[in-house]
Amino acid sequence: MTNSDAGVDVVDLEDLDLSRTSMQRLQCATRLLDGFHRGLFGFLHAPKRTICVSFPVEMDDGSVQVFEGFRVVHNRVLGPGKGGIRYHADLTVDEVKFLAAEMTWKCALVHIPFGGAKGGVVCDTKLLSEDEQRRITRRYITELGDNIGPHSDIPAPDMYTNAQTMAWIYDTYDVMHPRRNNRPVVTGKPVELGGSLGRREATARGALYATQRFLEQTTLCGFQSVTGARVVVQGFGNVGAIAAQLFNEAGAVVVGVSDSQGGIYDERGLDIEAVIAYKQIHRTVVGVPDTMSVTNEDLLELDCDILIPAAQSNQIHKGNAARIKAKLVVEAANGPTTPGADEILFNNDVCLLPDILVNAGGVVVSYYEWVQNFENEQWELDVVNRKLQHKIDKAVDRVVDRWGSLSAATQHEPLVESDGEPCHCMPVDLRTAALVVSIEHLVKVTLARGIWP
Ligand code: NAD
Repeated sequence: MTNSDAGVDVVDLEDLDLSRTSMQRLQCATRLLDGFHRGLFGFLHAPKRTICVSFPVEMDDGSVQVFEGFRVVHNRVLGPGKGGIRYHADLTVDEVKFLAAEMTWKCALVHIPFGGAKGGVVCDTKLLSEDEQRRITRRYITELGDNIGPHSDIPAPDMYTNAQTMAWIYDTYDVMHPRRNNRPVVTGKPVELGGSLGRREATARGALYATQRFLEQTTLCGFQSVTGARVVVQGFGNVGAIAAQLFNEAGAVVVGVSDSQGGIYDERGLDIEAVIAYKQIHRTVVGVPDTMSVTNEDLLELDCDILIPAAQSNQIHKGNAARIKAKLVVEAANGPTTPGADEILFNNDVCLLPDILVNAGGVVVSYYEWVQNFENEQWELDVVNRKLQHKIDKAVDRVVDRWGSLSAATQHEPLVESDGEPCHCMPVDLRTAALVVSIEHLVKVTLARGIWP
Protein backbone atom coordinates (compact mmCIF):
# COMPACT_ATOMS: atom_id res chain seq x y z
CA MET A 1 0.00 0.00 0.00
CA THR A 2 1.53 3.30 -1.06
CA ASN A 3 0.81 6.50 0.77
CA SER A 4 -1.72 7.62 -1.80
CA ASP A 5 -3.83 4.45 -1.69
CA ALA A 6 -3.29 3.71 1.98
CA GLY A 7 -6.64 5.22 2.90
CA VAL A 8 -7.32 7.59 5.77
CA ASP A 9 -7.49 4.87 8.43
CA VAL A 10 -3.95 3.63 7.98
CA VAL A 11 -2.47 7.08 7.45
CA ASP A 12 -4.13 8.17 10.71
CA LEU A 13 -2.69 5.18 12.55
CA GLU A 14 0.86 5.49 11.37
CA ASP A 15 3.34 7.62 9.44
CA LEU A 16 3.92 5.79 6.14
CA ASP A 17 6.61 8.13 4.86
CA LEU A 18 9.36 5.85 3.58
CA SER A 19 12.14 8.38 4.14
CA ARG A 20 11.26 8.51 7.85
CA THR A 21 11.11 4.70 7.91
CA SER A 22 14.63 4.64 6.47
CA MET A 23 15.92 7.18 8.99
CA GLN A 24 14.30 5.41 11.98
CA ARG A 25 15.67 1.99 11.05
CA LEU A 26 19.14 3.38 10.48
CA GLN A 27 19.05 5.16 13.85
CA CYS A 28 18.03 1.98 15.67
CA ALA A 29 20.71 -0.10 13.93
CA THR A 30 23.57 2.36 14.45
CA ARG A 31 22.76 2.65 18.18
CA LEU A 32 23.75 -1.00 18.49
CA LEU A 33 27.21 -0.47 17.01
CA ASP A 34 30.05 -0.12 19.46
CA GLY A 35 32.20 2.91 18.67
CA PHE A 36 30.07 3.95 15.70
CA HIS A 37 31.58 7.08 14.16
CA ARG A 38 28.49 9.37 14.53
CA GLY A 39 29.74 11.59 11.72
CA LEU A 40 29.09 8.70 9.33
CA PHE A 41 25.34 8.71 10.04
CA GLY A 42 24.55 11.49 7.55
CA PHE A 43 26.85 9.89 4.99
CA LEU A 44 24.98 6.58 5.30
CA HIS A 45 21.56 8.21 5.29
CA ALA A 46 21.74 10.85 2.54
CA PRO A 47 21.69 9.75 -1.10
CA LYS A 48 24.87 10.58 -2.98
CA ARG A 49 23.01 11.85 -6.05
CA THR A 50 19.38 12.42 -7.05
CA ILE A 51 18.46 13.14 -10.66
CA CYS A 52 14.94 14.26 -11.63
CA VAL A 53 14.09 14.51 -15.31
CA SER A 54 10.98 15.34 -17.28
CA PHE A 55 10.56 14.66 -20.97
CA PRO A 56 7.91 14.71 -23.70
CA VAL A 57 6.78 11.54 -25.47
CA GLU A 58 4.60 11.28 -28.54
CA MET A 59 1.71 8.94 -27.83
CA ASP A 60 0.09 6.53 -30.32
CA ASP A 61 -2.80 8.94 -30.95
CA GLY A 62 -0.41 11.76 -31.92
CA SER A 63 -0.77 13.67 -28.65
CA VAL A 64 2.27 14.59 -26.54
CA GLN A 65 2.57 13.70 -22.84
CA VAL A 66 5.24 14.83 -20.41
CA PHE A 67 6.63 12.15 -18.07
CA GLU A 68 8.66 12.52 -14.88
CA GLY A 69 11.56 10.19 -14.09
CA PHE A 70 14.14 9.77 -11.32
CA ARG A 71 17.45 8.06 -10.74
CA VAL A 72 19.01 8.02 -7.29
CA VAL A 73 22.46 6.72 -6.36
CA HIS A 74 22.46 6.23 -2.62
CA ASN A 75 26.02 5.10 -1.91
CA ARG A 76 29.00 4.05 -4.02
CA VAL A 77 31.51 3.00 -1.40
CA LEU A 78 31.46 -0.66 -2.47
CA GLY A 79 31.28 -0.06 -6.22
CA PRO A 80 29.07 1.33 -8.99
CA GLY A 81 25.43 2.06 -8.23
CA LYS A 82 23.08 -0.86 -8.86
CA GLY A 83 19.31 -0.97 -8.75
CA GLY A 84 16.08 -1.50 -10.58
CA ILE A 85 13.88 0.76 -12.64
CA ARG A 86 10.23 0.95 -11.62
CA TYR A 87 7.32 2.21 -13.70
CA HIS A 88 4.39 3.15 -11.48
CA ALA A 89 1.76 5.89 -11.41
CA ASP A 90 2.30 6.56 -7.67
CA LEU A 91 6.12 6.63 -7.80
CA THR A 92 7.71 9.48 -5.83
CA VAL A 93 11.29 10.60 -5.48
CA ASP A 94 11.15 9.74 -1.75
CA GLU A 95 10.16 6.17 -2.55
CA VAL A 96 13.05 5.93 -5.03
CA LYS A 97 15.46 7.24 -2.36
CA PHE A 98 14.18 4.60 0.09
CA LEU A 99 14.59 1.85 -2.51
CA ALA A 100 18.10 3.05 -3.43
CA ALA A 101 19.15 2.88 0.24
CA GLU A 102 17.70 -0.65 0.45
CA MET A 103 19.98 -1.59 -2.45
CA THR A 104 23.02 -0.26 -0.58
CA TRP A 105 22.23 -2.41 2.48
CA LYS A 106 21.45 -5.43 0.29
CA CYS A 107 24.72 -5.33 -1.68
CA ALA A 108 26.70 -4.88 1.55
CA LEU A 109 24.85 -7.75 3.23
CA VAL A 110 25.58 -10.28 0.47
CA HIS A 111 29.10 -8.93 -0.14
CA ILE A 112 28.87 -7.91 -3.77
CA PRO A 113 30.89 -4.95 -5.07
CA PHE A 114 28.03 -2.62 -5.90
CA GLY A 115 26.54 0.45 -4.26
CA GLY A 116 22.82 1.16 -4.04
CA ALA A 117 20.73 2.91 -6.69
CA LYS A 118 17.17 2.97 -7.98
CA GLY A 119 15.14 4.74 -10.62
CA GLY A 120 11.83 4.93 -12.32
CA VAL A 121 9.25 6.79 -14.33
CA VAL A 122 5.86 7.97 -13.12
CA CYS A 123 3.52 6.11 -15.49
CA ASP A 124 0.90 3.37 -15.57
CA THR A 125 2.05 0.65 -17.96
CA LYS A 126 -1.48 -0.81 -18.02
CA LEU A 127 -2.58 2.31 -19.92
CA LEU A 128 0.38 2.33 -22.34
CA SER A 129 1.00 0.38 -25.54
CA GLU A 130 4.30 -1.45 -26.01
CA ASP A 131 5.42 1.23 -28.51
CA GLU A 132 4.68 3.98 -25.97
CA GLN A 133 6.64 2.11 -23.28
CA ARG A 134 9.58 1.78 -25.69
CA ARG A 135 9.56 5.51 -26.47
CA ILE A 136 9.32 6.39 -22.76
CA THR A 137 12.22 4.07 -21.94
CA ARG A 138 14.49 5.36 -24.70
CA ARG A 139 13.78 8.98 -23.84
CA TYR A 140 14.28 8.41 -20.08
CA ILE A 141 17.64 6.72 -20.68
CA THR A 142 18.70 9.47 -23.06
CA GLU A 143 17.86 12.06 -20.39
CA LEU A 144 20.00 10.16 -17.85
CA GLY A 145 22.87 10.28 -20.37
CA ASP A 146 26.26 9.37 -18.93
CA ASN A 147 24.91 9.20 -15.40
CA ILE A 148 24.41 5.49 -16.05
CA GLY A 149 27.22 3.26 -17.30
CA PRO A 150 28.90 -0.14 -16.74
CA HIS A 151 31.25 1.40 -14.14
CA SER A 152 29.01 4.08 -12.64
CA ASP A 153 25.36 3.02 -12.30
CA ILE A 154 23.77 -0.14 -13.67
CA PRO A 155 19.96 -0.46 -13.91
CA ALA A 156 17.88 -3.67 -13.70
CA PRO A 157 14.17 -4.61 -13.74
CA ASP A 158 11.73 -3.76 -10.94
CA MET A 159 7.94 -3.40 -10.78
CA TYR A 160 6.30 -3.09 -14.21
CA THR A 161 9.59 -3.31 -16.11
CA ASN A 162 11.06 -6.52 -17.52
CA ALA A 163 13.69 -8.05 -19.82
CA GLN A 164 12.20 -6.22 -22.80
CA THR A 165 12.59 -2.87 -21.02
CA MET A 166 16.21 -3.78 -20.24
CA ALA A 167 16.80 -4.62 -23.94
CA TRP A 168 15.60 -1.11 -24.91
CA ILE A 169 17.87 0.40 -22.24
CA TYR A 170 20.86 -1.52 -23.57
CA ASP A 171 20.07 -0.59 -27.16
CA THR A 172 19.63 3.11 -26.36
CA TYR A 173 22.88 3.26 -24.41
CA ASP A 174 24.68 1.30 -27.14
CA VAL A 175 23.52 3.74 -29.81
CA MET A 176 24.83 6.59 -27.63
CA HIS A 177 28.20 4.82 -27.03
CA PRO A 178 29.14 2.96 -30.22
CA ARG A 179 32.19 0.72 -30.76
CA ARG A 180 32.52 -0.81 -27.30
CA ASN A 181 31.06 -3.65 -25.25
CA ASN A 182 28.08 -1.99 -23.56
CA ARG A 183 26.36 -5.13 -22.33
CA PRO A 184 27.32 -4.58 -18.66
CA VAL A 185 25.38 -1.27 -18.61
CA VAL A 186 22.17 -3.03 -17.61
CA THR A 187 21.21 -6.44 -16.17
CA GLY A 188 18.08 -8.55 -16.42
CA LYS A 189 18.40 -8.47 -20.22
CA PRO A 190 16.98 -11.22 -22.46
CA VAL A 191 19.36 -14.20 -22.44
CA GLU A 192 20.07 -13.83 -26.17
CA LEU A 193 21.29 -10.26 -25.48
CA GLY A 194 23.73 -11.26 -22.74
CA GLY A 195 21.24 -11.82 -19.91
CA SER A 196 22.29 -14.42 -17.35
CA LEU A 197 20.59 -17.78 -17.21
CA GLY A 198 18.61 -17.82 -13.96
CA ARG A 199 18.27 -14.02 -13.62
CA ARG A 200 14.49 -14.05 -14.28
CA GLU A 201 13.95 -16.50 -11.39
CA ALA A 202 16.81 -15.21 -9.21
CA THR A 203 14.86 -13.00 -6.80
CA ALA A 204 12.26 -15.68 -6.07
CA ARG A 205 14.91 -18.42 -5.94
CA GLY A 206 16.93 -16.35 -3.48
CA ALA A 207 13.79 -15.97 -1.35
CA LEU A 208 13.36 -19.75 -1.30
CA TYR A 209 17.04 -20.35 -0.45
CA ALA A 210 16.91 -17.75 2.35
CA THR A 211 13.74 -19.28 3.81
CA GLN A 212 15.09 -22.83 3.66
CA ARG A 213 18.40 -21.88 5.24
CA PHE A 214 16.72 -19.86 7.99
CA LEU A 215 14.30 -22.68 8.86
CA GLU A 216 17.15 -25.20 8.94
CA GLN A 217 19.33 -23.00 11.15
CA THR A 218 16.79 -21.91 13.79
CA THR A 219 13.79 -23.24 15.68
CA LEU A 220 12.11 -19.83 15.93
CA CYS A 221 9.13 -20.59 13.69
CA GLY A 222 8.18 -24.01 15.07
CA PHE A 223 8.78 -25.76 11.72
CA GLN A 224 12.08 -26.56 10.00
CA SER A 225 11.35 -26.85 6.30
CA VAL A 226 9.18 -25.34 3.60
CA THR A 227 8.01 -28.88 2.78
CA GLY A 228 4.36 -29.13 3.80
CA ALA A 229 4.21 -25.46 4.86
CA ARG A 230 1.06 -23.56 3.82
CA VAL A 231 2.10 -20.47 1.86
CA VAL A 232 0.31 -17.28 0.79
CA VAL A 233 1.87 -14.95 -1.83
CA GLN A 234 0.80 -11.35 -2.39
CA GLY A 235 1.70 -10.12 -5.91
CA PHE A 236 1.83 -12.41 -8.94
CA GLY A 237 4.45 -10.75 -11.15
CA ASN A 238 8.07 -11.66 -11.74
CA VAL A 239 8.86 -12.29 -8.08
CA GLY A 240 5.50 -13.49 -6.70
CA ALA A 241 4.51 -15.92 -9.48
CA ILE A 242 7.95 -17.54 -9.59
CA ALA A 243 8.10 -17.70 -5.78
CA ALA A 244 4.75 -19.51 -5.80
CA GLN A 245 6.13 -21.93 -8.40
CA LEU A 246 9.44 -22.58 -6.60
CA PHE A 247 7.95 -22.94 -3.11
CA ASN A 248 5.40 -25.32 -4.61
CA GLU A 249 8.15 -27.37 -6.28
CA ALA A 250 10.00 -27.46 -2.94
CA GLY A 251 6.97 -29.17 -1.34
CA ALA A 252 5.06 -26.21 0.10
CA VAL A 253 1.29 -25.94 -0.38
CA VAL A 254 0.45 -22.54 -1.87
CA VAL A 255 -3.08 -21.82 -0.64
CA GLY A 256 -3.49 -18.17 -1.71
CA VAL A 257 -2.10 -15.72 -4.27
CA SER A 258 -3.10 -12.24 -5.45
CA ASP A 259 -2.36 -9.45 -7.91
CA SER A 260 -3.51 -5.83 -8.12
CA GLN A 261 -7.07 -6.98 -9.03
CA GLY A 262 -7.54 -9.20 -5.95
CA GLY A 263 -6.75 -12.65 -4.61
CA ILE A 264 -7.74 -16.32 -4.80
CA TYR A 265 -7.71 -19.06 -2.17
CA ASP A 266 -7.96 -22.84 -2.08
CA GLU A 267 -7.23 -24.56 1.21
CA ARG A 268 -6.26 -27.77 -0.64
CA GLY A 269 -3.51 -25.89 -2.49
CA LEU A 270 -3.62 -24.02 -5.80
CA ASP A 271 -2.46 -25.53 -9.08
CA ILE A 272 0.20 -22.86 -9.70
CA GLU A 273 0.84 -23.79 -13.35
CA ALA A 274 -2.91 -23.45 -14.00
CA VAL A 275 -2.96 -20.05 -12.23
CA ILE A 276 -0.01 -18.85 -14.37
CA ALA A 277 -1.74 -20.04 -17.54
CA TYR A 278 -5.00 -18.33 -16.47
CA LYS A 279 -3.19 -15.06 -15.70
CA GLN A 280 -1.55 -15.08 -19.14
CA ILE A 281 -4.96 -15.12 -20.79
CA HIS A 282 -7.03 -13.01 -18.36
CA ARG A 283 -4.23 -10.71 -17.03
CA THR A 284 -5.36 -11.42 -13.47
CA VAL A 285 -5.48 -14.40 -11.13
CA VAL A 286 -9.02 -13.52 -10.06
CA GLY A 287 -11.53 -15.99 -11.43
CA VAL A 288 -9.38 -19.14 -11.66
CA PRO A 289 -11.99 -21.96 -11.68
CA ASP A 290 -12.67 -23.77 -8.37
CA THR A 291 -10.99 -21.09 -6.25
CA MET A 292 -12.49 -18.69 -3.74
CA SER A 293 -12.05 -14.95 -4.38
CA VAL A 294 -10.57 -12.88 -1.53
CA THR A 295 -9.65 -9.23 -1.27
CA ASN A 296 -6.01 -8.23 -1.05
CA GLU A 297 -6.58 -7.16 2.56
CA ASP A 298 -8.10 -10.54 3.51
CA LEU A 299 -5.37 -12.42 1.67
CA LEU A 300 -2.71 -11.08 4.02
CA GLU A 301 -4.70 -12.29 7.01
CA LEU A 302 -5.28 -15.87 5.76
CA ASP A 303 -4.35 -18.75 8.05
CA CYS A 304 -0.96 -19.99 6.78
CA ASP A 305 2.61 -20.79 7.86
CA ILE A 306 4.49 -18.48 5.48
CA LEU A 307 3.28 -15.15 4.10
CA ILE A 308 5.26 -13.76 1.16
CA PRO A 309 4.51 -10.13 0.31
CA ALA A 310 5.84 -9.71 -3.27
CA ALA A 311 4.18 -6.51 -4.46
CA GLN A 312 4.21 -2.96 -3.07
CA SER A 313 5.57 -1.25 0.04
CA ASN A 314 3.60 -0.58 3.29
CA GLN A 315 1.25 -3.57 2.90
CA ILE A 316 1.59 -4.88 6.47
CA HIS A 317 0.96 -1.94 8.77
CA LYS A 318 -0.34 -1.04 12.21
CA GLY A 319 -3.91 -1.51 10.98
CA ASN A 320 -3.57 -5.19 10.03
CA ALA A 321 -0.38 -6.55 11.64
CA ALA A 322 -2.19 -7.93 14.69
CA ARG A 323 -4.38 -10.05 12.39
CA ILE A 324 -1.49 -11.66 10.49
CA LYS A 325 -1.72 -15.39 11.23
CA ALA A 326 1.43 -16.54 9.43
CA LYS A 327 4.27 -17.80 11.61
CA LEU A 328 6.87 -16.42 9.21
CA VAL A 329 6.77 -13.36 6.93
CA VAL A 330 9.21 -13.58 4.02
CA GLU A 331 9.64 -10.09 2.54
CA ALA A 332 10.16 -10.67 -1.17
CA ALA A 333 8.96 -7.11 -1.94
CA ASN A 334 10.92 -4.04 -0.91
CA GLY A 335 9.57 -2.34 2.21
CA PRO A 336 6.28 -4.27 2.55
CA THR A 337 6.19 -3.90 6.37
CA THR A 338 6.02 -0.63 8.30
CA PRO A 339 7.99 0.02 11.53
CA GLY A 340 4.71 -0.05 13.51
CA ALA A 341 3.88 -3.47 12.07
CA ASP A 342 7.40 -4.73 12.81
CA GLU A 343 6.80 -4.14 16.49
CA ILE A 344 3.38 -5.82 16.52
CA LEU A 345 4.67 -8.86 14.64
CA PHE A 346 7.67 -9.14 16.97
CA ASN A 347 5.47 -8.97 20.06
CA ASN A 348 3.17 -11.62 18.56
CA ASP A 349 6.14 -13.95 17.92
CA VAL A 350 5.75 -13.74 14.15
CA CYS A 351 9.22 -14.15 12.61
CA LEU A 352 10.11 -11.80 9.79
CA LEU A 353 12.87 -12.38 7.25
CA PRO A 354 13.73 -8.89 5.98
CA ASP A 355 13.66 -7.69 2.38
CA ILE A 356 17.37 -6.86 2.15
CA LEU A 357 18.11 -10.54 2.77
CA VAL A 358 15.12 -12.23 1.13
CA ASN A 359 15.13 -10.48 -2.24
CA ALA A 360 18.91 -10.07 -2.59
CA GLY A 361 18.99 -12.98 -5.06
CA GLY A 362 18.03 -10.56 -7.84
CA VAL A 363 21.02 -8.32 -7.39
CA VAL A 364 23.37 -11.27 -6.79
CA VAL A 365 22.56 -12.78 -10.19
CA SER A 366 22.59 -9.29 -11.73
CA TYR A 367 26.17 -9.10 -10.49
CA TYR A 368 26.89 -12.48 -12.11
CA GLU A 369 25.37 -11.17 -15.36
CA TRP A 370 27.61 -8.10 -15.20
CA VAL A 371 30.71 -10.31 -14.69
CA GLN A 372 29.68 -12.61 -17.57
CA ASN A 373 29.17 -9.59 -19.85
CA PHE A 374 32.70 -8.30 -19.21
CA GLU A 375 34.07 -11.80 -19.88
CA ASN A 376 31.79 -12.35 -22.91
CA GLU A 377 30.84 -15.66 -21.30
CA GLN A 378 27.61 -17.46 -20.45
CA TRP A 379 27.64 -19.61 -17.33
CA GLU A 380 25.50 -22.75 -17.08
CA LEU A 381 22.29 -22.45 -15.05
CA ASP A 382 23.48 -24.88 -12.37
CA VAL A 383 26.65 -22.80 -11.88
CA VAL A 384 24.59 -19.62 -11.41
CA ASN A 385 22.17 -21.27 -8.97
CA ARG A 386 24.94 -22.93 -6.95
CA LYS A 387 26.81 -19.65 -6.58
CA LEU A 388 23.55 -17.88 -5.67
CA GLN A 389 22.71 -20.41 -2.99
CA HIS A 390 26.18 -20.12 -1.48
CA LYS A 391 25.89 -16.32 -1.28
CA ILE A 392 22.42 -16.40 0.25
CA ASP A 393 23.28 -19.15 2.76
CA LYS A 394 26.29 -17.16 3.95
CA ALA A 395 24.23 -14.00 4.30
CA VAL A 396 21.51 -15.81 6.30
CA ASP A 397 24.19 -17.24 8.60
CA ARG A 398 25.71 -13.79 9.15
CA VAL A 399 22.30 -12.34 10.05
CA VAL A 400 21.32 -15.19 12.38
CA ASP A 401 24.71 -15.08 14.16
CA ARG A 402 24.61 -11.30 14.57
CA TRP A 403 20.99 -11.45 15.75
CA GLY A 404 22.07 -13.94 18.41
CA SER A 405 24.96 -11.81 19.65
CA LEU A 406 22.96 -8.57 19.61
CA SER A 407 19.99 -10.15 21.42
CA ALA A 408 22.29 -11.53 24.12
CA ALA A 409 24.03 -8.16 24.55
CA THR A 410 20.83 -6.11 24.81
CA GLN A 411 18.68 -8.54 26.84
CA HIS A 412 19.45 -7.08 30.23
CA GLU A 413 20.37 -3.55 29.20
CA PRO A 414 17.60 -1.40 27.76
CA LEU A 415 18.91 0.81 24.96
CA VAL A 416 19.51 4.41 25.92
CA GLU A 417 19.98 7.55 23.83
CA SER A 418 23.31 9.38 24.16
CA ASP A 419 21.59 11.92 26.47
CA GLY A 420 20.60 9.11 28.87
CA GLU A 421 16.91 8.93 27.82
CA PRO A 422 15.50 5.47 27.02
CA CYS A 423 15.18 5.11 23.23
CA HIS A 424 12.12 3.95 21.31
CA CYS A 425 13.80 1.22 19.28
CA MET A 426 12.21 -2.18 19.71
CA PRO A 427 14.24 -5.22 20.84
CA VAL A 428 16.58 -6.58 18.17
CA ASP A 429 14.73 -8.32 15.37
CA LEU A 430 16.17 -9.96 12.25
CA ARG A 431 15.66 -6.78 10.21
CA THR A 432 17.80 -4.75 12.61
CA ALA A 433 20.41 -7.51 12.76
CA ALA A 434 20.61 -7.60 8.94
CA LEU A 435 21.00 -3.83 8.80
CA VAL A 436 23.72 -3.94 11.47
CA VAL A 437 25.65 -6.53 9.42
CA SER A 438 25.38 -4.33 6.32
CA ILE A 439 26.41 -1.15 8.11
CA GLU A 440 29.36 -2.82 9.83
CA HIS A 441 30.66 -3.91 6.42
CA LEU A 442 30.06 -0.49 4.86
CA VAL A 443 31.71 1.37 7.73
CA LYS A 444 34.74 -0.89 7.58
CA VAL A 445 35.16 -0.26 3.84
CA THR A 446 34.45 3.48 4.16
CA LEU A 447 37.07 3.91 6.87
CA ALA A 448 39.59 1.77 4.98
CA ARG A 449 39.15 4.01 1.93
CA GLY A 450 39.21 7.17 4.09
CA ILE A 451 37.12 10.28 3.74
CA TRP A 452 38.19 12.24 0.66
CA PRO A 453 40.40 14.30 0.44
P1 NAD B 1 6.05 -7.05 -11.24
O1 NAD B 1 5.65 -5.79 -11.88
O2 NAD B 1 6.57 -8.14 -12.11
O3 NAD B 1 4.83 -7.65 -10.40
C1 NAD B 1 4.14 -6.92 -9.45
C2 NAD B 1 2.92 -7.73 -9.04
O4 NAD B 1 2.31 -7.10 -7.91
C3 NAD B 1 1.85 -7.77 -10.12
O5 NAD B 1 1.29 -9.07 -10.15
C4 NAD B 1 0.80 -6.77 -9.66
O6 NAD B 1 -0.49 -7.05 -10.14
C5 NAD B 1 0.91 -6.98 -8.15
N1 NAD B 1 0.39 -5.89 -7.37
C6 NAD B 1 0.55 -4.56 -7.54
N2 NAD B 1 -0.09 -3.90 -6.56
C7 NAD B 1 -0.65 -4.83 -5.76
C8 NAD B 1 -1.43 -4.77 -4.57
N3 NAD B 1 -1.75 -3.61 -4.01
N4 NAD B 1 -1.81 -5.95 -4.01
C9 NAD B 1 -1.47 -7.12 -4.56
N5 NAD B 1 -0.73 -7.24 -5.67
C10 NAD B 1 -0.34 -6.10 -6.26
O7 NAD B 1 7.11 -6.66 -10.11
P2 NAD B 1 8.22 -7.58 -9.45
O8 NAD B 1 9.46 -7.42 -10.24
O9 NAD B 1 7.66 -8.95 -9.23
O10 NAD B 1 8.46 -6.84 -8.06
C11 NAD B 1 7.66 -7.12 -6.94
C12 NAD B 1 8.37 -6.63 -5.69
O11 NAD B 1 9.64 -7.28 -5.58
C13 NAD B 1 8.67 -5.12 -5.66
O12 NAD B 1 8.59 -4.66 -4.35
C14 NAD B 1 10.11 -5.07 -6.14
O13 NAD B 1 10.77 -3.89 -5.69
C15 NAD B 1 10.66 -6.31 -5.47
N6 NAD B 1 11.89 -6.80 -6.08
C16 NAD B 1 11.93 -7.18 -7.38
C17 NAD B 1 13.11 -7.67 -7.92
C18 NAD B 1 13.19 -8.17 -9.34
O14 NAD B 1 14.21 -8.78 -9.68
N7 NAD B 1 12.17 -8.02 -10.17
C19 NAD B 1 14.26 -7.74 -7.13
C20 NAD B 1 14.19 -7.35 -5.80
C21 NAD B 1 13.00 -6.90 -5.29
